[in-house]
Amino acid sequence: MTRSAVPPGATIGFLGGGQLGRMTAMAARTLGYDVRVLDPERDCPARHVANATITAPWSDAGAATELATGCAAVTLEIEQIPRGSLEAAAAVAPLCPPVEAVFVVQERARQKEWLAQNGFPLGPFRTVRHSTTTADAVAALGPSIVKSAMGGYDGRGQVRVRTPDEGRAAFETLRAPVCVVEAFLDIATELSVLVARRDDGEAVAYPTSRNVHTDGVLTWAVTPSGADDAIEAQAQELALAIAAKLGVVGLLATEMFVLKDGTLLVNELAPRPHNTYHHSERAHPTSQFEQLVRAICHLPLGDVRVVRPAAIHNLLGDLWTGGAPDLTKALAVPGVRVHLYGKKEARPGRKMGHLSADGATPEEALDRVLTAYRAISR
Ligand code: ADP
Ligand code: MG
Repeated sequence: MTRSAVPPGATIGFLGGGQLGRMTAMAARTLGYDVRVLDPERDCPARHVANATITAPWSDAGAATELATGCAAVTLEIEQIPRGSLEAAAAVAPLCPPVEAVFVVQERARQKEWLAQNGFPLGPFRTVRHSTTTADAVAALGPSIVKSAMGGYDGRGQVRVRTPDEGRAAFETLRAPVCVVEAFLDIATELSVLVARRDDGEAVAYPTSRNVHTDGVLTWAVTPSGADDAIEAQAQELALAIAAKLGVVGLLATEMFVLKDGTLLVNELAPRPHNTYHHSERAHPTSQFEQLVRAICHLPLGDVRVVRPAAIHNLLGDLWTGGAPDLTKALAVPGVRVHLYGKKEARPGRKMGHLSADGATPEEALDRVLTAYRAISR
């Protein structure tokens, strides 16, 4: 049954109060909603934007019930939440995306097998549960990446291997019950597509964002991506088809690889706001955060045209080594904005904030965030 528009003053629940929850909470507050957050960390980034915060572990189904009680909708910023807690929330309020969609995405092997079964294009991979089968998989696939099926993010829980022996060792190092072995691909470009979808099936795909990663973690992204028209159309069609098949309500980001021979493959899915669209508030009339709120509150989906080229550059905790960086140097670069997530403790690799910039061209927008980043790097 299709719901009617959620009126201002209603409460929206968030499973997760990290930076994604915080930025979505800001958008929800702007649209007049109250925000309630559940996060294991008392001092989570969304805390100062939310009307109320519940501190409890993800496994606490009672806390998920408490979060959802009285909410017009509940959404999430992290997919690795135990099924019991997702079901507890979904029993008392519409959970967006629904339990089944999150369940498929949250485990890498399950997600890849679902994509393969539904005919979506993937690189060669094998699911493994033992060091011996990992060695066999590397023997069959050649140079590979062994990825743990649960708990990995920002390139963590992954080992690059060249030989069966390295594969065997990687499985033992990862200490995960299930891993995916993926053939190492000859990637020309990484693209992502963000889809917003309502429960009546209305959906929009943002134009692709072009992404560059270092050691598995996003360094920068830019829109428009520069993909040719055929790849752009194919990427959007693919992302919309996956979101529809999964029954996503809210957001689905599809990370993709364009190989050197022009083949477009799916890398992985995320049923939530995505780092590669943080500059959506500069490039499009509707940011990904506002779009998520619109989708789950059954409001009209917003315009996703590119109105201005824009780029984002991540600020990792490494920059804070030896003291906070001088962000005034970044702010001095034309078009640059600084976004900080309010995290008290900086650790290497931890996402502390990002820079965004607009520009007359994507090259100019990218050059501005790179210039600003260099200015604050020691
Ligand atoms: P995470 O969940 O940490 O984002 P990904 O599977 O997306 O993990 O991998 C992180 C990055 O590592 C990718 O964005 C890409 O740059 C690189 N990568 C991942 N899988 C492959 C692969 N099969 N071949 C080559 N590079 C890869
Ligand atoms: Mg990824």
